[in-house]
Amino acid sequence: MTYVIAEPCVDVLDKSCIDECPVDCIYEGDRMLYIHPDECVDCGACEPVCPVEAIYYEDDVPEEWVNYTKANVDFFDEIGSPGGAAKVGKASHDPQWIKDLPPQGE
Ligand code: SF4
Ligand code: SF4
Repeated sequence: MTYVIAEPCVDVLDKSCIDECPVDCIYEGDRMLYIHPDECVDCGACEPVCPVEAIYYEDDVPEEWVNYTKANVDFFDEIGSPGGAAKVGKASHDPQWIKDLPPQGE
């Protein structure tokens, strides 16, 4: 089990959550951020600071966004488990269906 970032983060990328994570397991993609499912220690520190309520405990992801649980896994197909987002920096990719989402927000 892990925490998951869902659709409200897309095109927002405000990054408040990154500062809260004690294990630096929140990674930056092109259009959203992703929580590493193996590196997350389930502390919950990130969830309340997200200004758009994009972060959910895996069991609590709203039905409409359950696909994001998989997106937070698939994002790491390319980069594996680096053990810290700071080392990696911003990635220029997202899972294909995230890339294909229409622009979010007004
Ligand atoms: S705080 Fe929320 S919107 Fe900002 S990057 Fe983290 S998950 Fe995305
Ligand atoms: S739950 Fe804790 S360890 Fe997991 S991403 Fe959030 S702040 Fe990091």
